[in-house]
Amino acid sequence: MNILVINSGSSSLKYKLFDMDKKVPVVSGIAERIGFDGSFIKHENGEKTVINIELPDHKVALQEVLKLLMDPKLGAIKSLDEIDAVGHRILHGQEVFTESVILDKEKVETLKGFIEMGPLHMPANIGGIEACFSLMPNVPQVGAFDTAFHATIPPKAHLYALPYDLYERYRIRRYGFHGTSHKYVANRAAEFLGRSPEGLKMITLHLGNGSSMAAVKDGKCIDTTMGFTPLEGLIMGTRCGDMDPAIVPYIGKKLDMTPDEVDALMNKESGLKGFSGLSNDMRDIQKARSEGHKLAQLVYEMFIYRIVKYVGAYTAALGGLDCMVFTAGIGENDYEARRDICRELGFLGVKIDEELNDGLRGKECRLSTPDSKVEVLLIPTDEELSIALDTFNLVKKA
Ligand code: ADP
Repeated sequence: MNILVINSGSSSLKYKLFDMDKKVPVVSGIAERIGFDGSFIKHENGEKTVINIELPDHKVALQEVLKLLMDPKLGAIKSLDEIDAVGHRILHGQEVFTESVILDKEKVETLKGFIEMGPLHMPANIGGIEACFSLMPNVPQVGAFDTAFHATIPPKAHLYALPYDLYERYRIRRYGFHGTSHKYVANRAAEFLGRSPEGLKMITLHLGNGSSMAAVKDGKCIDTTMGFTPLEGLIMGTRCGDMDPAIVPYIGKKLDMTPDEVDALMNKESGLKGFSGLSNDMRDIQKARSEGHKLAQLVYEMFIYRIVKYVGAYTAALGGLDCMVFTAGIGENDYEARRDICRELGFLGVKIDEELNDGLRGKECRLSTPDSKVEVLLIPTDEELSIALDTFNLVKKA
């Protein structure tokens, strides 16, 4: 079975065509600068090719991607009939979609009602789905939601102590994001340990440009650091994460900014980049602090501290801790950050093999020593494979 996975961003469209017998992508790529001058497609089928091409909208981008998939030299299939299903990454399922679903026109209409909850991503996600419906009308389309894995978080952890009426009227609550990643690495971790997710108390740390953590008990998420939007929780590349919400009107008054402007400041001009004044990229922060840059050093310490604090909180929420999983750009590659987080958690009995950890990047493995009280794993995330697996399982059943 061939499954095409599509991840539509506001001006990009990532694609991967999976051969589900082997569970590997046969071709993949990204169409960038959709709707702007200078658009192009970076395509990979063993070899990398860049195609400069005008892409006025997502439908044209998808048409060009489908042509590439069927190209005798660059592609992997002869006709679109060889695509058995398409899996779409969708930012928000609100409280309606709590697991991946086979999409139809009615469900797409429901999704349009959630645009307000993700004004940057949702129109692009929906655009990608509609383009597939019109170009491949007979192929099943599946939606996989970034929020779905967190649907099991109980009310005491997903509600905010605002007037309850606001929840009832506007569904203001914690949704959480990066769900496909947390779900994938939590399941892989259980497989790696040769255990059933039942009975496992786990914390998954998705540390990338956007970062979040999840507390997972018996394979189900019971809490996560991101909230109503992806702003809450950890310190990220350009996002501040947790802070006193009263700072928002205070900044607004002091700097004569509208709420939207303060929102942009917290989302795009804060975090590693805003605090250090340097960069959102942890590699730049690491380099700068090794050269004695004070604010880079401080923001790194803040980043680690926030993570350690949440591990403590989630260990309490889980009633213990069996396993921690590092994933995403920083979690997979930044061995110093992994080491520093684990050192701070020594009091919980966390102990990693620092020699093994040193220099280790992107390889699935156990970092903890045999006498560690907590298993510490590095599991590279694969959100597209996670979506492909959900799509495969739903289509197989249908
Ligand atoms: P996203 O999907 O949110 O864009 P990724 O999971 O791809 O993020 O992570 C990208 C981030 O990972 C970069 O911004 C950088 O901070 C971090 N990163 C990548 N490689 C390294 C590395 N070798 N050392 C430290 N940080 C790294």
